[in-house]
Formats: sequence, structure tokens, C-alpha cells
Amino acid sequence: MSDFKGKLFVFSAPSGSGKTTIVRHLLSQEKFNLEFSISCASRDARGTEKHGEDYYFITLEDFKSKIKNDEFLEWEEVYRDNFYGTLKSEVERIWALKKHVIFDIDVVGGLRIKKKFPEQTLAVFVKPPSVDELKIRLKKRSTESEDKINMRIAKASVELATAPQFDTIIKNYDLDVALKEAEELVDDFLK
Ligand code: 5GP
Repeated sequence: MSDFKGKLFVFSAPSGSGKTTIVRHLLSQEKFNLEFSISCASRDARGTEKHGEDYYFITLEDFKSKIKNDEFLEWEEVYRDNFYGTLKSEVERIWALKKHVIFDIDVVGGLRIKKKFPEQTLAVFVKPPSVDELKIRLKKRSTESEDKINMRIAKASVELATAPQFDTIIKNYDLDVALKEAEELVDDFLK
């Protein structure tokens, strides 16, 4: 039997908080031996997103059938008719590679993972400077319609209230500082 003990790093935050940038930065640090957990999503690909890299883009019908077959570790209807979820097979795939798993998922999903693997998981909440700043960042990204941006903003306040339930909070006010802090957290948790 292998003595590899896989860990899980959850990064959750309202959309536009910069968690994806933080997760990508950590993935680029080979010393951490991290692999990105590719979620299933029932939405269409945006911009340069690729199936099997950013998400497994599947139909709503397919998503629902996977729920029925109990294939998910966690899943969530993050926005109406937009389902996201982590397949059990995804974590197994990554541990079989002898790597640690890093998640970029919503707050509810993040806390569920923590509950399922309490000792192995470090759950990090990424806090944006303010809801107004989130709005500016989402508009700058300009990958979504005004309606969709408003939907994400409306959700942000509810999500911000869950921050105390996480193991730790990174304030993403200055990206360089946040990246350094994230590196230190991962480094410590791997010791
Ligand atoms: P986006 O559409 O911006 O890629 O993602 C919308 C939200 O869904 C983000 O907060 C993202 O982190 C979250 N999300 C992505 N994958 C998963 C997942 O597997 N499970 C859950 N619960 N949320 C996810």
C-alpha cells in the first residue's frame, strides 16, 4: 500500500474575489504537488475555457443523471439552472497521481468538502475588499451579461457571511500579499 496521504485545499469566495488567480498561482508552484479538481458544470464554456481543463461541461440532463447515480462528492445549483459539482472520481483520480487536490468552488461546496474530510482539508475563504470592488472586477472581466453580473453580486453578500466557518480567511486587497499568504498556508498545511 502507498503511504501517500492526499490533502485537500479548498478555496472559496464570491465570484470575482480573485480566488481563481490564487488557485492558478499555487498550481504553478511545483513544490506543492497540487492538481486542480475539475468540476462538472451545466453552463456553457466562457471565453477561452476548455472542456476537461477548466470544467467538464455537461448538459443539465447529464448532470441530473449523475446526481441520481450518486456520483458527486458535493454538488450545488450555484445559480438558477447552473449546476456545479465535484465528482467522487475526480478526487480519486488526483490521489492516484499521488498529488494533493486543490478546489476552486463555491462556499457551500467548500464547506461540504471540509465536513467530509475534516482532517485532510484546509478550507480557505478569499475575501474581496468590498461588494463594490467585486462589481468593478466582474465588469472588467466582461465575460458575462449585466443580468448575470447582478445575479453574482446579489449572491456575494450571502457568501461573505459564511467566511467565519472556514479554517482561515485571506484578504485579497493586494494580490501580491494574498499570493504570498496563500503559499504560506499551503506550505504549513503540507508539513
Ligand atoms: P463560474 O461560473 O464563475 O466558473 O463559477 C461559479 C461559481 O461556482 C464559483 O463560485 C465557482 O467557484 C463555483 N464552483 C465551481 N465548481 C464548483 C463545484 O464543483 N462545486 C461547487 N459547489 N461550486 C463550484
